[in-house]
Amino acid sequence: GLDAIRDAVRKFLRLSGPYERAVEEFIRDLQRALLSADVNVRLVFDLTRRIRERALKEKPPPGASRRDWFLKIVYEELVKLFGGDREPEVKPPYTPYVIMLVGVQGSGKTTTAAKLALFYKRMGYKVGLVAADVYRPGAYDQLRQLAERIGVMFYGEPGSRDAVGIATRGVKELKERGANIVIVDTAGRHGYGSEVALLEEMKRMSEAIKPDEVMLVIDAAMGQKSFDLAKRFHEATPIGSIIVTKMDGTAKGGGALSAVAATGAIIKFIGTGEDVEEFEVFNPRRFVSRLLGMGDIEGILERIKRLEAAEEFEKTVEEMLEGKLNFRILYRQLRQLTRMGPLRKVLQMLPGVGLAVTDEIAKLGEEKIRKWLAIMDSMTYEELDHPEIIDKSRMRRIARGAGVELDDVKELVNYYRNLQRMLRRLKKQKGALERLLRNIGGV
Ligand code: GDP
Ligand code: MG
Repeated sequence: GLDAIRDAVRKFLRLSGPYERAVEEFIRDLQRALLSADVNVRLVFDLTRRIRERALKEKPPPGASRRDWFLKIVYEELVKLFGGDREPEVKPPYTPYVIMLVGVQGSGKTTTAAKLALFYKRMGYKVGLVAADVYRPGAYDQLRQLAERIGVMFYGEPGSRDAVGIATRGVKELKERGANIVIVDTAGRHGYGSEVALLEEMKRMSEAIKPDEVMLVIDAAMGQKSFDLAKRFHEATPIGSIIVTKMDGTAKGGGALSAVAATGAIIKFIGTGEDVEEFEVFNPRRFVSRLLGMGDIEGILERIKRLEAAEEFEKTVEEMLEGKLNFRILYRQLRQLTRMGPLRKVLQMLPGVGLAVTDEIAKLGEEKIRKWLAIMDSMTYEELDHPEIIDKSRMRRIARGAGVELDDVKELVNYYRNLQRMLRRLKKQKGALERLLRNIGGV
């Protein structure tokens, strides 16, 4: 199952021997884990092909190990597979907003209806639940009790057999009672007829209540069948989003990806237990981090981010060595410094500099850098490109704009002039100049 991915990562980090062999072995382990978790075969092979390609083509920033870089690629490609970069938008775009839950019996619709209701109630919405499953015995009571427990409005007609009628009347009445969000729980299996009859009923219900969003609820353990299932529901009532339940009970969950592929919808929420509290917004990054082993992967990603920033910084240093200097370049360099993490750590990363800088100076430096960035934010493009035009009156205007003292602006301008003077003086002695420019970090 998917939890085998974590073991594969551990093994990859531990295994000595040639990099290429470790990569091939990891890819094999990854494929095995994904396939055994019911991820669609095509998806698996596309994924590993992309990972292999990138691993061959891309070069890690200086200082990063190839193994770290490889795991970063794996991480990024898995995030893409699980829905991409963004956390899904769960705030309804307008109100009142009607959500219809569909899915097979036992997938967790009724439980999820309550979880969703609680989620939105906590966001400050007035929520109402409609019990439109007329086939499962006890469905009415199950939802009514849940609604009472979490304290949201409820509509149902015990004993009625008219699911479409109940849904229609329920949506109308709850809206009249002031609900901003109405969640309609539906049946997963038709009492008498076939599955075709159920899908037909979903279609009629959807035409009657015109939901703003249809959410497909699928059990994480459903596996490969999820694809066909999702497709059939999608044809009856276009699926807007997916909720995967019982993520706690299985190491599979790969079937959910098939549902994503079949509908083009994204996973918005996951259920992680029977309790109404055990529910969260699906976050592909967090999910993949967990798959890969939170502790291992986050450290690696953080390290790489810093090294990439350091590489950028070095480029700016190179640029300055070629004799270019203005506030725009200084700004970029100081910004890069702040992105590399705590200044003290950054300085340790840049060869030769860390030794010379004490904690005290590093702290002072960070504050000053922030102030100087604010000052430069208040400069015009012309001033950024041609610092020599900055006279007393411009300094005064800039100070006002940045909310700092005139002396602060003067200090920055003086710093710039000194730097420029030194640059000119040292232009020929490249080695010494490089060391000096790196010392900018130690202001
Ligand atoms: P429905 O038939 O689709 O309405 O499904 P129900 O909401 O009645 O849920 C069926 C069973 O799954 C119940 O025993 C629920 O407690 C259980 N269930 C629902 N969601 C989850 C979940 O996220 N995790 C676990 N472990 N059980 C769940
Ligand atoms: Mg139910």
